[in-house]
Amino acid sequence: MKYWGYLLAKLVVAVGVFTSLWVGMVSWLPAPETFNHRQPARLGQDLTWTMVILLFFLLFCGALYLIVWDQRYRCRTCLRRLRMPVTMGSWTNVLLGPPRTEYICLYGHGTLRVADLQITGLVRASWEEHDDMWKELFGVEETRAGGPPAPPY
Ligand SMILES: [Zn+2]
Repeated sequence: MKYWGYLLAKLVVAVGVFTSLWVGMVSWLPAPETFNHRQPARLGQDLTWTMVILLFFLLFCGALYLIVWDQRYRCRTCLRRLRMPVTMGSWTNVLLGPPRTEYICLYGHGTLRVADLQITGLVRASWEEHDDMWKELFGVEETRAGGPPAPPY
């Protein structure tokens, strides 16, 4: 829920920024002059307005791409950026283990596996959530020492 809420918040901020940019464009750019007692359309007949709309559209698409790209590489639990990319698999032995990149959350919440080879269509990234990392580590210590571990301080 927190993950999708953060995406929604970023989209709302982007829409707000681009809405204010649109209002600024409409108010700052002059309307085209009348020609033969007719007001020509802005888009397609006014070169300045058409080029500004093109730039606005490209900026909007770029912002949406960056928002989705940033969201894809965030932890689903704590929203921190995923780190430590590790290349797994092999490009020469695709049948045994296709190449992929794995990213982890530094706080042990999970692992994101992103396929590097997309020959059978779009392979979506898979998120594997981990259990509590400290509980797992203390469990290993208990089995080694035969008793509960000493506190870390
Ligand atoms: Zn995390």
